[in-house]
Amino acid sequence: MDDTNIILSCGFTSKFKDIAYNKAKFICPVCQTHYITAEECFYMTRNKLVILKRSVELKKKDFLIDIKKIEANNENSKYYMDLCYKNLTNKIDIRREELKKEINQKIDEHYFTLLEQVDSIKQEKLAEYETMYEKTKSLKKELENCKIEDKNIIDQIDMNKNLKSKIEEGKKLLQSIEDLFKQPYYLFKEIYLVIDVKKYFGELLFRESESEIYTDNLDDNDFNRDKATIKLKIFNFKTVKEAFSKNSKKCTLRNINWSIEARSYKEKSGKIYLAIFLSYDSAEKLKELAIQVEATICLLHPFNSNLDLIRKFDHIYYHDEKGWGYRNFVEINEIMENKLGYYDHETDCITIQANLKVEIPQRIIR
Ligand SMILES: [Zn+2]
Repeated sequence: MDDTNIILSCGFTSKFKDIAYNKAKFICPVCQTHYITAEECFYMTRNKLVILKRSVELKKKDFLIDIKKIEANNENSKYYMDLCYKNLTNKIDIRREELKKEINQKIDEHYFTLLEQVDSIKQEKLAEYETMYEKTKSLKKELENCKIEDKNIIDQIDMNKNLKSKIEEGKKLLQSIEDLFKQPYYLFKEIYLVIDVKKYFGELLFRESESEIYTDNLDDNDFNRDKATIKLKIFNFKTVKEAFSKNSKKCTLRNINWSIEARSYKEKSGKIYLAIFLSYDSAEKLKELAIQVEATICLLHPFNSNLDLIRKFDHIYYHDEKGWGYRNFVEINEIMENKLGYYDHETDCITIQANLKVEIPQRIIR
């Protein structure tokens, strides 16, 4: 874009780069006889068309590069689709084994509880048996030692009656002892298995897009557009939290592509941090330009926006510098904290958001 020819009100032509990076009125760089503003130059119909055509050319070039990647992978689309879903399938596989193990463990636990119950019933019944057996032994002794013949008739009648009832009582006792060993005192009631596996196994959850760009003034040309919000989610965070690097989608502000980069950063002390940088790239070299950017970087709390972690910076980017931000935005441990943490347990991710405002790039005066 920088080398695009722009026509001036005096009839001469100049390069885009000599016009665009001026905030206020400035002297015509060609004829030096009048003052102009970038805005009035870009408002001229011919220039509008030229800038638009150049912008289309650049976008087309980008598009053709991107489509090459897709074309190259076309033959193996099934392979790449499998690759994309491999992690998801793995998680389901792991959960299957885990759940089997968990259920097995629960079954075994209950099994041993039941066996313990049976053991204690047996102990109880054995104790009952001991008592009854002692009683039968003493009854037997009593019967053996009982002498009735030498008593008078009335006593003999009483004693025989007494003896009869004791023997009957004894027979009942023997029957009870037999019953103790004949059958258990408890039945086993089987319960038909009804498990809502979905409830315990887990289910597929729709995954939000990893990165989104929000900008109000999409109709503006890429040079006039100055504000945007970039969102970046890092999924699978529990697994990757100690070593990851992710870039957001790019948005074009002032003809420059901006994106956020989030990655893990390990300090010498061993502490691991979330690092966030706002960086730019451009198809064309931005030599000798300074770009002022105001940025608000947030780590969003999953359900309470009052707890969002917000940091702001106002920074001037020079052409030899790619990114600016925070190497120690927040410690990973703090992200994982239970209630105040920023980790979303349900979707296994964290969400970073950057609001940025980019001023018109300025030439560095040497
Ligand atoms: Zn002029």
